[in-house]
Amino acid sequence: MPDIIQLLPDHVANQIAAGEVVQRPASVVKELLENSIDAGSSIIKLIVKDGGKTLIQVVDDGKGMSVTDARLSFERHATSKIKSAQDLFNLHTKGFRGEALASIAAIAHVDMQTRREEDEVGTQLKIEGSNVVAQEVTVTPKGTSISVKNLFFNIPARRNFLKSDQVELRHITDEFHRVALAHPEIGFSFYNNGSEHFNLKSESFRQRIVHIFGSKINERLVPLEEETEVLKINGFVIKPEFAKKSRGEQFFFVNGRFIKSSYLHHAVVAAFEGLMRAEMRPAYFIKLEVDPATIDINIHPTKTEVKFDDEHTLYALLKSTVKHSLGQFNVTPALDFERDKNLDTPYAFQNKEAIQPNVSVNPSFNPFESHNLGSGNFQKKSVEGWQDLYAVSKKNMDCFSSVQFESETKDHELFESENVAFDNGPSTFQLRRKYIVTKVKSALLVIDQNRAHQRVLYEHYLKSISDENVLSQELLFPIEIKLTAKEFSILEEISDKLSLAGFQIVFRAEHKVVVEAIPPSISEKNIGELLHDFIKEFDEYGTEDQFDIEFTAKSLAKAMAIKNGQILEHESQMALVNDLFGCVEPKLSPFKKLTYITLNENELENNFL
Ligand code: ADP
Ligand code: MG
Repeated sequence: MPDIIQLLPDHVANQIAAGEVVQRPASVVKELLENSIDAGSSIIKLIVKDGGKTLIQVVDDGKGMSVTDARLSFERHATSKIKSAQDLFNLHTKGFRGEALASIAAIAHVDMQTRREEDEVGTQLKIEGSNVVAQEVTVTPKGTSISVKNLFFNIPARRNFLKSDQVELRHITDEFHRVALAHPEIGFSFYNNGSEHFNLKSESFRQRIVHIFGSKINERLVPLEEETEVLKINGFVIKPEFAKKSRGEQFFFVNGRFIKSSYLHHAVVAAFEGLMRAEMRPAYFIKLEVDPATIDINIHPTKTEVKFDDEHTLYALLKSTVKHSLGQFNVTPALDFERDKNLDTPYAFQNKEAIQPNVSVNPSFNPFESHNLGSGNFQKKSVEGWQDLYAVSKKNMDCFSSVQFESETKDHELFESENVAFDNGPSTFQLRRKYIVTKVKSALLVIDQNRAHQRVLYEHYLKSISDENVLSQELLFPIEIKLTAKEFSILEEISDKLSLAGFQIVFRAEHKVVVEAIPPSISEKNIGELLHDFIKEFDEYGTEDQFDIEFTAKSLAKAMAIKNGQILEHESQMALVNDLFGCVEPKLSPFKKLTYITLNENELENNFL
């Protein structure tokens, strides 16, 4: 029998290696940006088309390559960054495996132009699927420009596996954030489909954070600073009161490299203990510098995981540094957890103007009318009116009146007419800015205002989106909102669905959007906040597949619902009660939580036995 083992041809080996290095366009972006940084560039430009599927180009002003180096750079295990295994313990560069360019060239059309300062002319190289198809002398500025076109052109299965352009763009944007944050001293620009996403000048770390995440973040940053023999820490944590439930911004950089570390994350969480509710997650931008000999970054092909020699010391130092800074910047005493937190305005509402509640109401619908609301038939009967509610709204959007309750005339006799349901005229009150308490003939009702409103809005949007019967109210004065690059691309992704809900949004340059029309049931006052909430919701929970009508309706409802902590006028309280019992399924929120509880006479009496 003949021998059967063969060496794989290089282009096959490269394709296999590419599977590890290049998962999606964002991986190419990361490798190219890192190469440009390693080349000592001071300005780096990233150009992307169609989520990176058509084009990813990185242009730098770094040291460039000689003709020979240009050619060699595409060979596997070709690197200028290490010469011996010993060098692995003293790494000051991002790359060292010499795999990235070879891998990328194996699965795409690559076009490179490069020139060193000392050379008169530069080199142009074209490579397609590991084959050099052209090599020419060219006139080109100092530095390197690499274009990667038609990624995975020769691996259709991988190409088909890519997500939508918007999703790929989000991954690219995340990667860009990481690299740009790690190197604020370098200027970065980023163009997507011809429009400028970022133009970041060389600046401080703090300025870089603000320019990426928006000016609001500035006042929320608490600086960290610590220097010991083994470790240098600097960066920022976000004040605990601005913590979010979502993962949000969590960045660790070790020696200029973005890394993920659940262990270090835990150290930060531990430092926030007692300052934040358990479900909240801290946000941070933390740079650690350690002796390169004490870490091993070689354990993962995409190099986001790092092994530290002395994890325990790092953990302790990081925790105490964060704790110290939080204390020093007076964050700690401001929060008093002994107080009943239901009485406090939730964090999200502090420092915000009171928002007028906006409950939609059909004035002609009275769920209590002529019903005996004994606990048994309560739900069944109250269902009857709901179709009317939305039927009316179709004909005339004024009927689904987006009522500003402050100005609403008080004579829409909701409860006054018959007093069937109420013993002594209409009566609701708000408990702890969270519950609406009302009574029906023989029972006490306690309604969760946020969940109830979610239910009302959910059914409304479900109907208007699935009927494509959209009500939209043009704004006299369109509202311009500035978003971050990430928010902007998420919003683009979901704008179809939003238009089905009644929003008309125009996308402009510099991540600005102009809201031209909104659903009639919402107030234009808090539109910016609402879009932010909605984007967040989608960012956190939405995937393409999930993003169906129901998810849209749910997310809209969640974003737009009256929040806990919001004071409701008496009229709004009653309207909410009315709307709730006009719903098909008033008992549960769209997220399957109870919207209200009842205490009937028997239950009350049992309590006094
Ligand atoms: P690594 O970065 O691990 O060395 P790569 O395949 O990413 O491997 O790059 C191979 C080599 O090509 C690098 O070591 C470097 O010498 C050269 N190179 C790549 N990109 C650039 C660039 N933008 N400017 C100058 N040299 C570069
Ligand atoms: Mg590299």
